[in-house]
Amino acid sequence: MDKNQKPSPRTQALHGRFETQAWDFKHHLIPPMTASTTFRLESLERGAKGFSNFATQMPEGEETILIYDRLDEPNSLMLEEQLATLHKGELALAFGSGMGAISTLFLATTKKGQKIISHRTLYGCTYSLLKNWLPKFGVETEFVDINDQSFASKITDKSVRVIYFESVSNPLLEMIDFEYLVQLVKTENKTRSEENKVLIAVDNTFATPWALRPLEHGVDFVIESLTKNISGFGTDMGGAIITSKKYETDLKVARKDFGAIMTAHSAWHIMVYGVSTQALRFEKQQENAMAIAEFLNSHPQVESVTYPGLENYKYHNLSKKYLKTPEGKFAPGTMISFRLKGSAEQTAKFINDVAKNSYSITLAVSLGLTKTLIELPGFMTHSALSEQDKQKCAIDAKAIRLSVGLENVQDLINDLNKSIKNYFTSTEIV
Ligand SMILES: *Cc1c(COP(=O)(O)O)cnc(C)c1O
Repeated sequence: MDKNQKPSPRTQALHGRFETQAWDFKHHLIPPMTASTTFRLESLERGAKGFSNFATQMPEGEETILIYDRLDEPNSLMLEEQLATLHKGELALAFGSGMGAISTLFLATTKKGQKIISHRTLYGCTYSLLKNWLPKFGVETEFVDINDQSFASKITDKSVRVIYFESVSNPLLEMIDFEYLVQLVKTENKTRSEENKVLIAVDNTFATPWALRPLEHGVDFVIESLTKNISGFGTDMGGAIITSKKYETDLKVARKDFGAIMTAHSAWHIMVYGVSTQALRFEKQQENAMAIAEFLNSHPQVESVTYPGLENYKYHNLSKKYLKTPEGKFAPGTMISFRLKGSAEQTAKFINDVAKNSYSITLAVSLGLTKTLIELPGFMTHSALSEQDKQKCAIDAKAIRLSVGLENVQDLINDLNKSIKNYFTSTEIV
């Protein structure tokens, strides 16, 4: 390849860098898996330098001195390089789970008396973290509709430190206008000192870097649950924060002290199998999702379908504007939310029918995997929400979440159709 020609993200996802500071593996086609929790320090001086480099912003170009896995280890470092490249960020840090990344982010960026403003629909455990745990440390969260007009007046409160939302929300696929939000925060930050600036953090798990790279739009932190589409095969848990270098020390020290680290084994799997095939998987899953969304949308027994690829999607202008592959193609994603006509009891029957009779669709939480998964968030992933909050964000007993996999799409449609039919037989009996 011509030296001046930059390889495309897709090619980079496959090859990574042949040479890395993290390890000399120039001669391996696949980077080796490391299994050493501690490292030879060689001399007191080198050991001491390793610790001091870790605790301060390391000078550019300096070698990472490996000390102990909870600080840094080669496979995570390699995965981090890949994730930073895909998100066009200066820095990526890997964690043992998405929640490990999210909790470390809040612990590292907020202090007692400061406030978080969060969009009201959120992944259930993130909601629980903000609602049940952070207040114990004096950090309160206000849950609002960030799309609402009244939001602009909220961020002038000087105790507000972080604005948090999901780029495509779990489970109802809501979106927020990045440009509008970033502009608001920029204006507000002109009145604040560096350590008091409002920070914007975005959980990008549904979109993944193949549909959206929020750093390009000016946010401060991107979160990915790597457990989902990036790992992809349902074998490994992981999380990541992608951001700029200036947060490196705080985040790394917080990760070291709170301990939500990724294992070398998982980093290796996610890098070697997950990252390298994600574009292909995502695109095929998305193609299936589009066909299923259209099928559901035209089905007489379906009350509503939410999918960013449909013309009737509430945030269609935003999805068209922001959901794009690195090559610029529209990328509405692999997740669908839908409701059937009839009562909540009938929806429950439908779900049980899928669980019992469907071959291609499995009742299970998690998402983004090669296998198609269905669940009812109100009873499962989002059961931590109070009844009142569930109502506020319309996560009720009828909202079904579907994560579309790699199966033959007709098999998926047949299985859905069969259970809708069975459900209607039971409707007539009821
Ligand atoms: C699953 C998920 C998380 C949490 O990730 P884990 O890897 O399960 O800890 C966070 N945010 C969203 C949107 C998720 O779907």
